[in-house]
Amino acid sequence: MSDPAPVSLGTINFAVELIKQSHKTVTLTGAGISTNSGIPDFRSPGTGLWQHVEPMEVASLSAFRHDPERFYEWFHPLAVIMFSAQPNPAHVALAKLQAAGYISEIITQNIDGLHTKAGAEHVLEVHGTLRTLSCTNCYHQVPFTAILDDYLQRYCVPRCPECGSILKPDIILYEEQLPVKTWIKAEEACKHCELLIVIGTSLEVMPSAKLPILAVEHGSRLVIINNSPTFMDVRADLVIHADISEILSQVVEEALQTGYIPQGRI
Ligand SMILES: [Zn+2]
Repeated sequence: MSDPAPVSLGTINFAVELIKQSHKTVTLTGAGISTNSGIPDFRSPGTGLWQHVEPMEVASLSAFRHDPERFYEWFHPLAVIMFSAQPNPAHVALAKLQAAGYISEIITQNIDGLHTKAGAEHVLEVHGTLRTLSCTNCYHQVPFTAILDDYLQRYCVPRCPECGSILKPDIILYEEQLPVKTWIKAEEACKHCELLIVIGTSLEVMPSAKLPILAVEHGSRLVIINNSPTFMDVRADLVIHADISEILSQVVEEALQTGYIPQGRI
């Protein structure tokens, strides 16, 4: 968002109050939290990444199996950006809030690893991670750093050091199931939280978009911080349409200044 509307101190304070009243707060983050780190929302139109290709033609599991070279060629510019990206103030703010005991799990749709880079823990990456790749033949797993130079600088298609087959990044492509254990943890977190803060996602990607419904149906309060409306805005206790980094930094500053942690917080 180029020129976000100013957000009143009253709104910030209300967000802080909701956080302080909650004994278990969970966040769900999407691409919008990482755009200030220079990572485009590659599902959004106009970012360039989808301009010349149909996503299903390159970024689906069947397309990857049929033509992994094409996938790696298409993915190359995004990988270059992701591996050089650094956490922005929004990632740092959430890590601080978590370290102060205000947030338990951080559920993210992002594959960029920036929450972890910012120092966050208990990060549930429901769309997988770019940190590792797995062999399509023998399932041997290697860190992305092991093939990084060959891929980023020499455009080599990553191959398994054990059997020579193609390696696939451990990110979730179209047609693929979400990682089951991570997904179950995300669902459980949303069922048992008292507050869910949705940050930087338009809630258009299923099944992650179901998580706020799950939380609300189990009695959780809901805060949505995004630069555009979502279908859950009508069910939220608070909706803030503004620059995510700026808002989160203000919320954390206010929350930590007053320093009150409710009893019973884990
Ligand atoms: Zn292998």
